[in-house]
Amino acid sequence: MPPPLLTIAEARSLVLNAVLPLASESVAIPQARDRILAADVQVAGDVPPFPCSAMDGYAVAPGPAGRTLRVVGESRAGAPSAQSLGQGQAIRISTGAAVPDSATAVIPQEDVSLEGGEGEIITRAAVHEGDNVRDRGEDMRAGSTVLPAGTLLGAAELGAAVSAGAAQLTVARRPAVHVLSTGDELKAPGEPLGPGEIHNSNAPMLVALAEHQGAACAPPIRLPDDRAATEAGLAEALEHADLVIISGGVSVGPHDHVKPALETLGVEQVFWRVALQPGKPTWFGRRGNTLVFGLPGNPVSSVVTFGLFVRPALAALQGRAEAPRLESEAILAAPVARNPDREQAIRVRLERHDGRLTASPNGPQGSHIVTSLLGADALALIAPGEGELAAGATVPLEPLPR
Ligand code: AMP
Ligand code: MG
Repeated sequence: MPPPLLTIAEARSLVLNAVLPLASESVAIPQARDRILAADVQVAGDVPPFPCSAMDGYAVAPGPAGRTLRVVGESRAGAPSAQSLGQGQAIRISTGAAVPDSATAVIPQEDVSLEGGEGEIITRAAVHEGDNVRDRGEDMRAGSTVLPAGTLLGAAELGAAVSAGAAQLTVARRPAVHVLSTGDELKAPGEPLGPGEIHNSNAPMLVALAEHQGAACAPPIRLPDDRAATEAGLAEALEHADLVIISGGVSVGPHDHVKPALETLGVEQVFWRVALQPGKPTWFGRRGNTLVFGLPGNPVSSVVTFGLFVRPALAALQGRAEAPRLESEAILAAPVARNPDREQAIRVRLERHDGRLTASPNGPQGSHIVTSLLGADALALIAPGEGELAAGATVPLEPLPR
């Protein structure tokens, strides 16, 4: 009897156990976009660095409406006033400009009248301590951590890092990924097809998926269904990659050469076969710190198994902290036929009805139906069992990789 198949969760934890995070490197902030922070970013100095105005108006002392004040200077953004504020005085001020010494409030210009004498304003509203003044350090405090290691650096994070005083960021090295596709039947995009041939859709999908997870991909390689060629292609990839993805050829057919080639090359098998549909023949192994994924050749199987196993590995290689997911389960909108032995990962569309999130199967679910990926929002996991899982059942969601 063959050993029982691993569950998705068991297989994923074996993958994560095999990951050793990559080293880090320092990059200038504009180059850090979409990278994963490898060291906390500490705030160098308070932000804002000085009390400043939230409005265009006049820096004044607190007091009632109806005061006549003499305008004795101006504080502009980047050019603070040299004067400090005396009794009965006001200083013209712009948004973001430093509030002069001894002024503790700003009155917006729409709340003053210029109808008094030359160089004077009349306040038309009462002014309280702190009105329209942004305190020093209100946004960030010197010495605090603004971004923890593991953060994915998007636009807001880059802006926060610059505000905090950083110019360079320590980020995880991008994983070097090699994508290989096996199959005598595979033709390059646009090439005319001979009898029995199909286009190699996996290669561009897997490269796009890996790059979206921060990988640096070598140009993808196609391998024929030939033992020597498979071994040579894999040997080359193993030399240079942190993570190898090879699609197709991991089943038990007479033309499936991937597993024996990997064994010859000293790649130690961690698991082969998961109780998953689509994706049963998924193979995972390692040689030293290099991770190798043998993904089933059907395009949907490749994408699903990338999402369930390769995506978490790429994230962990870069030390990425997984953000808690807002939508981790949904209500099935239509019945789904269960697989008696394997968990299914079906492509679903998500919709909200009366505040409840529903998941509808995104058309036919065959592992060769690439169009089932189009417009899908997530994968829904259907536990193994007999008969149908009824509409209304709650099902866990997994992200659909992009
Ligand atoms: P295999 O895993 O090699 O047995 O392939 C399973 C199915 O996926 C077969 O129908 C293959 O033709 C198809 N297939 C394998 N590799 C690719 C690929 N790179 N792009 C599109 N289809 C593929
Ligand atoms: Mg094949």
